[in-house]
Amino acid sequence: MIDKALRLLQSGRVERLEGDRYNVIGNHGTYNVVARDGKVMCTCPGFQSRRRCSHSSAVTILRARRRQRS
Ligand SMILES: [Zn+2]
Repeated sequence: MIDKALRLLQSGRVERLEGDRYNVIGNHGTYNVVARDGKVMCTCPGFQSRRRCSHSSAVTILRARRRQRS
């Protein structure tokens, strides 16, 4: 899961939209990831069933990195 999230980040497939919304281009389509109240939610089927996925993990890592830098 983390490896896949890092690959998404490294290949530039996480795109920040306005505010805390992100587009993540996965292997099976583009998904919307929204960060709110410290939680990250994704629109993909995997997240709906497991409450976690590589897309939401990628956004979590991205946001943690941004906090460390600032
Ligand atoms: Zn997802």
